[in-house]
Amino acid sequence: MAKMIINGQKVNAVQGGLLDVVSPIDGKVFTEIPRGQREDVDLAVKAARQSLSSDWGNFDPLGRSRLMLELGVAILENLDELADLEMKDTGKPLATARADITVLARYFEYYGGAADKVLGQVIPYLNDYSVQVIREPLGVTAHIIPWNYPAQMFGRSVAPSLAMGNACVVKPAEDACLSIVRVAELALEVGFPAGALNVVTGLGEEAGASLAEHPDINFISFTGSNQVGVFIQQAAAKHAVKCVLELGGKSAHVVFEDAKFGPAIAAIVKGIVHNTGQTCTAGSRLLLQASIYDEFMQELGKEFSKTRAGTPEMDLTCGPVINKNQFDRVNGYIEKGIAQNLKVVAQGQIADGVPADGYFVTPTLFSAPDHTSELLTEEIFGPVLVAVPFKDEEEAIALANATDYGLLGAVWTENGGRQMRMAKGIQAGQVYINGFGAGGGIELPFGGVKRSGHGREKGLVALEEMSTTKTIVLFHGK
Ligand code: NAP
Ligand code: MG
Repeated sequence: MAKMIINGQKVNAVQGGLLDVVSPIDGKVFTEIPRGQREDVDLAVKAARQSLSSDWGNFDPLGRSRLMLELGVAILENLDELADLEMKDTGKPLATARADITVLARYFEYYGGAADKVLGQVIPYLNDYSVQVIREPLGVTAHIIPWNYPAQMFGRSVAPSLAMGNACVVKPAEDACLSIVRVAELALEVGFPAGALNVVTGLGEEAGASLAEHPDINFISFTGSNQVGVFIQQAAAKHAVKCVLELGGKSAHVVFEDAKFGPAIAAIVKGIVHNTGQTCTAGSRLLLQASIYDEFMQELGKEFSKTRAGTPEMDLTCGPVINKNQFDRVNGYIEKGIAQNLKVVAQGQIADGVPADGYFVTPTLFSAPDHTSELLTEEIFGPVLVAVPFKDEEEAIALANATDYGLLGAVWTENGGRQMRMAKGIQAGQVYINGFGAGGGIELPFGGVKRSGHGREKGLVALEEMSTTKTIVLFHGK
């Protein structure tokens, strides 16, 4: 049974409560986790605060860098165990779980390498003055992590924060926290001091809400639903602390008549079925130029129908969705699409022999006559793709921007001018041209516009988000 990591100790919840962890593969309870509550969060925040004025706070940038790089090595040395935990928790195919753990290690390598290279500024000012701007940690940072890529999201959120010298309190999702707890143990093993990195497991509305509302945190990083994201921003506002919100998307592929079909089709299928569509950057809409619509859909349908959902050991295209809620939600959207007379162009299959009570859903490709269905505007978070035709560039941009979200976009065309016009016209934090998604891509600044949230993670920009500046003005006149 996993324990929480608070102040360098592996602990149970103060009140002793436990939560069942259900396997998405067969719907059965396979372990328990502590049900952390307000008092556990309080202890974790206190430990983090204390570490800033003692051990962890005394590390210089090189010391932080070395520890982070060591943790990256430890993650890779324990890849089999961590991938196994991730696979059991989320139901991901083994290859996907292994790739995710490799990305987690990369976060510690990347930000570990950067920790001692964050420079300040010297600003020319009035005569007799010298001005320097230095970077300082924010203090205690809170990290609320979703279940879709627990290990990766943990790395994305926590590594830049530790690199900048903050102390972290992490609340993983109750549905998938095992790899995160184990990495926090590894952090202790490689020498992170007590309190630098704390993990409180539990329910969102208990441990999560207590952390977001805690008066002694200085920053919140949140990835998850819009509904909870709004609550997080309100909680942050109460104590006037900053938050970074990553609230999902409804990203579109825009395919023009001059696109190369082969690479576009491969990327479109992968972009919606990978991780069973439970990816904030999933390419869940396909905008297709009318002149190639039928031909492209026929080719796409052939590839889409080859997708298979199965158990992690089967190592097929995708696994189950995370829980019964998501299972009902995704199937509900598929039923709604059928009820709205959207055409089912192709479906993948659920492999023979999967447990009857697992949360497996059938990958489904719809064609819609226009952009009016909710399936084209709401985040489904499952392997459901909806295609719709467009006439010209102008209409393509209008449709690409016709949702509340703005996380990613992809443009498929060989026309150079059009590539740039589209990239500039699409409202999103990232736009891909003749490709899709970063598959980790931790070097690339990432985040949303509109209801997809605000703030940036990944890349060096995350180091700025996770720190603050201090301007020191020295008068040296007589
Ligand atoms: P969610 O509730 O927003 O969960 C995200 C994280 O927030 C989890 O760690 C969750 O903990 C925590 N949380 C929940 N309620 C909280 C609260 N009141 N205060 C503080 N933290 C809280 O998302 P979900 O219900 O699991 O999934 C619903 C939908 O959200 C999905 O269908 C999808 O559309 C979207 N989603 C998006 C992403 C993304 O990558 N952008 C990731 C996940 C979900 P618990 O899980 O323990 O409750
Ligand atoms: Mg939840």
